[in-house]
Amino acid sequence: MPSPIGHTLLAFSVTGFQNKSSLSMAGWYLLILIAGVAPDFDFLPGILIGDPNRFHHGPTHSILAGVVFTAFMYIIIKPLNLRAALLIFLVYLTHVLADSLSADSGAPYGVPLFWPFSPDYLISPIPVFRNFIHGGEGGGFNHFLGDVFSIHNLWAIAIEILVLGPILWISHRVRQRKV
Ligand SMILES: [Zn+2]
Repeated sequence: MPSPIGHTLLAFSVTGFQNKSSLSMAGWYLLILIAGVAPDFDFLPGILIGDPNRFHHGPTHSILAGVVFTAFMYIIIKPLNLRAALLIFLVYLTHVLADSLSADSGAPYGVPLFWPFSPDYLISPIPVFRNFIHGGEGGGFNHFLGDVFSIHNLWAIAIEILVLGPILWISHRVRQRKV
């Protein structure tokens, strides 16, 4: 998986910086940020039981979860129009696809994109992103934190910024020209 920083760069590459909703600017940005990392909320139940990786790369990393998340946001956030909701769905889906393009050091490898219709996990044979390590299942909270704040991950973030920074810049420039 890319880091939260990589996922955030990707999220804004998808949406651009213009406010596409009738939310406040801060509210719209916050929503993009949350949608960009939402699939990884599957760390939370594991953190609560002292095994952060227990449920990671489960059903939240699927197209169906993206649909459910978007529908939920559309219902609870009243000023969200359909176009903004579609962007939020794309941001969520981009997270899942980016995970499938990353090196993965722990089974199950990749993401269950078509869950529950297919149990298969998809992963690119050629990783685009270095793996952002975060311990392993059964490794406990200290192993999780030790990995998250490691030199390996600093390098992973640096590569993400090198790869995704220009993509974000290009998407921003293209949008500016269209305006
Ligand atoms: Zn993820």
